[in-house]
Amino acid sequence: MALIVQKFGGTSLGNGERIQRAAERVAAERRQGNEVVVVVSAMGGETDRLLGLAGELSERPPPRERDQLLATGEQVTISLMAMALRELGQGARSFTGAQVPIRTDTAYGRARIVEIEQEALRSCLDEGSVPVVAGFQGVAPEGDVTTLGRGGSDTTAVALAAAMEAEECHIYTDVDGVYTTDPRIVPEARRLGRITFEEMIELASLGTKVLQIRAVEFAGKYGVPVRIRSAFEEGPGTLITVEDAAMEKALVSGIAHNEDEAKVTIIGVPDRPGIAHAVVGAVSQENVNVDMIIQNQGEHGKTDFTFTVPRSDYRLVMDLLEPVCREIEAEALTGSERIAKISVVGVGMRNHAGVADLMFETLSREGINIQMIATSEIKISVVVDQKYAELAVRSLHEAFELDKPISDRNHIH
Ligand code: ADP
Ligand code: ASP
Ligand code: MG
Repeated sequence: MALIVQKFGGTSLGNGERIQRAAERVAAERRQGNEVVVVVSAMGGETDRLLGLAGELSERPPPRERDQLLATGEQVTISLMAMALRELGQGARSFTGAQVPIRTDTAYGRARIVEIEQEALRSCLDEGSVPVVAGFQGVAPEGDVTTLGRGGSDTTAVALAAAMEAEECHIYTDVDGVYTTDPRIVPEARRLGRITFEEMIELASLGTKVLQIRAVEFAGKYGVPVRIRSAFEEGPGTLITVEDAAMEKALVSGIAHNEDEAKVTIIGVPDRPGIAHAVVGAVSQENVNVDMIIQNQGEHGKTDFTFTVPRSDYRLVMDLLEPVCREIEAEALTGSERIAKISVVGVGMRNHAGVADLMFETLSREGINIQMIATSEIKISVVVDQKYAELAVRSLHEAFELDKPISDRNHIH
């Protein structure tokens, strides 16, 4: 008998009827003879609704209270799911993060899981019941409720699968797998049968929202096979796993886009040691993540310094850099919130030259100006004006022939 963790996302739990259908998937897995632990998100849109309510009352809600509030979304769905399962004749018991307990640190809003106690879940399984665990939440040492960051139910599911040594972790959502790019933007996108942890980590960190990045990192670290599947129809989905020789090798596996970042440029900075530290240090001190960084060689001993930050932190960063710019005697501070980062990802890039060139050629043919470039072994990212984001994704998808089966693609040499 294998243990399977099944996670249902908000899109698959939008109303009573959908919760009922999700419960039927759980009961079906049990009938196959497997033990099942279920993890649920809040109903679709609920977490945003709660955040909106908090925003009406407070510009910066206290983190402890915000987490206390947000965790209620998942408390609704665990109990409804347990009820639906019981109606189907399947024993089930709901668990909040604190009832498991899923122990975390105290970093409200982005807490990290420290330990998962298995006793309560195991005894539920031993009774033949299905534990239904609230995703996205945990409990801090003093007993306060914490949350794991947006999309955090994915991480709860993978962490449980790792801790309980589950055979596979199934993530049920409104698409039937991981596609070559967001199918909402490119209807011709193809479902990938398999993808490596490494590629999925890149895609997730570059803006592909089908799976939270921490969940993929966790899965890679502990070797938990993760399968993305449709909550509404049968099918194999996409298996995220280690690279093996049998995998068909695509040059590029997928295209990610991220429209949640903003660009900050400091113009005319004296070209001397300590400048990057002064700027990035000031930003990091406020716990803001700096992403792409570019420093250009300017004229007369001056340079320009450009980097990206989460768009939600843009105002904060501009405010805090004003005095820093005066101090380092920079000429001007500018920026833009209207940018998009477009990335092509693939382990196949390691052995092929020409990917960057095809990317740049395609964008130039469409008249899209590239503002920033960053590369790593298996990805190339560019920053462009946000108004070209969809055009860029579509034209790159076509240029790399991602709409065709791998065997029909005309690989560049
Ligand atoms: P859930 O509520 O189940 O957690 P999410 O909204 O977090 O669902 O993730 C599913 C969505 O991810 C899909 O509806 C799809 O639009 C989006 N998505 C973005 N990029 C991709 C991709 N490459 N493959 C599949 N889905 C993608
Ligand atoms: N409900 C939370 C969110 O909307 C967690 C999740 O869905 O994974 O971010
Ligand atoms: Mg999600």
